[in-house]
Amino acid sequence: MSSSSQRVTQRRLQGLLFKRFGMAVVTYALTMLLCVVAMFCGLVQATLPAAVLIGALVVVSQLCFFALFRSGRNLRFKDPSLTEPQVLVALTWLTLLLALFEHARGSLLVIYLLILLFGVFELPPRVFARCAVLAFSGFAGLNLYEAFASRLADPAAAFLQVSVLAAVLLWLSLFASYVQAMRQRMLQRRFALQAHQDTLRGMMRQLEDLAATDELTGLFNRRHFLRLAGRALENMSGGRQHGLALIDLDHFKRINDVHGHAAGDRVLQTFAGVARACLRDGDVLARYGGEEFVLLLPNTDCDQFAACCERLRDAFSRAEPLGVKVDDLSLSVGMTLLSKHDDLDEALHRADQALYQAKRSGRNRCEAAWEEVDA
Ligand code: GH3
Ligand code: MG
Ligand code: MG
Repeated sequence: MSSSSQRVTQRRLQGLLFKRFGMAVVTYALTMLLCVVAMFCGLVQATLPAAVLIGALVVVSQLCFFALFRSGRNLRFKDPSLTEPQVLVALTWLTLLLALFEHARGSLLVIYLLILLFGVFELPPRVFARCAVLAFSGFAGLNLYEAFASRLADPAAAFLQVSVLAAVLLWLSLFASYVQAMRQRMLQRRFALQAHQDTLRGMMRQLEDLAATDELTGLFNRRHFLRLAGRALENMSGGRQHGLALIDLDHFKRINDVHGHAAGDRVLQTFAGVARACLRDGDVLARYGGEEFVLLLPNTDCDQFAACCERLRDAFSRAEPLGVKVDDLSLSVGMTLLSKHDDLDEALHRADQALYQAKRSGRNRCEAAWEEVDA
């Protein structure tokens, strides 16, 4: 993954984590609100300093988490969502809070579940079970402590609350394992789907290459050339010119007749190899049909283009096809220049006329049709 897309993914992740942090803060606020309701109902035996201390602990701990998220330091942890520490801290504060609310304890018990729900979709089953055990030991320990200190007003109700919490926590732990297993399966499916997509994309690329390539020479085919040339013409900036040439191997029929069709094929492949060696990366060469080829040389002028075609003609005349002894290999070239607003068909026609001229003048030469472009 590139560093910029990594940064975008990280920013998105941080955005999500901030939202979850906001939800945690809302949960704290709701809990505080419920405590106020319990106070109004006269169910609190808390002293003011104890209540203020718990409130301060909540605020300070949340400020610490906020600072971690804000500074991006949370990303250094194995789990940047910091779900486990958040849940553990919240469970601890809730247990302290419940110590002040003996009569409302049964009702406020549900907040344990609210806190643990944050971990159901995020925490691995073992970590979730650890949190559930902490919740249970905190609540059971609190009741045991009060029972030993003979401060428990209703031991039967406390026993029921502890049992209910144990049952619900067990259920929630099983549910968390189930959710994680589902998540794992979905992840595996996603990876499998991605692998299929990659294979399909590779096959599409292969198909595109096949559809654009001439099988014998490995050059582009005529259809693909026309597409590329059309695009080059569209994107051409004013004042620039591209060279366009039709190249035809001379007396090719004779090579076929004398040496056989396979030798003719070899000569066509030899031309492709020679031309590739003569041209640069941005130049476009394609098999136009039979023993005819077409060349597009971007951003050139008459002299450069003529020199390039001449180099190609000369190189081919000196080529030695493997396993075929042909003495007089030659080709003829019809050249023209393409300028902005030019018509590709017309330009090809001009090149064809020049090629015809080259053939009529005795072959093995390059002829140009510049003047009509300049006009
Ligand atoms: P000119 O110098 O006037 O161009 O003469 P030429 O013989 O090259 O041209 P002509 O059009 O008479 O013959 C072209 C021959 O090219 C005819 C055709 O059988 C042969 N040809 C076309 N495609 C292939 C191919 O893929 N492989 C082989 N071996 N021959 C091919
Ligand atoms: Mg020919
Ligand atoms: Mg021909």
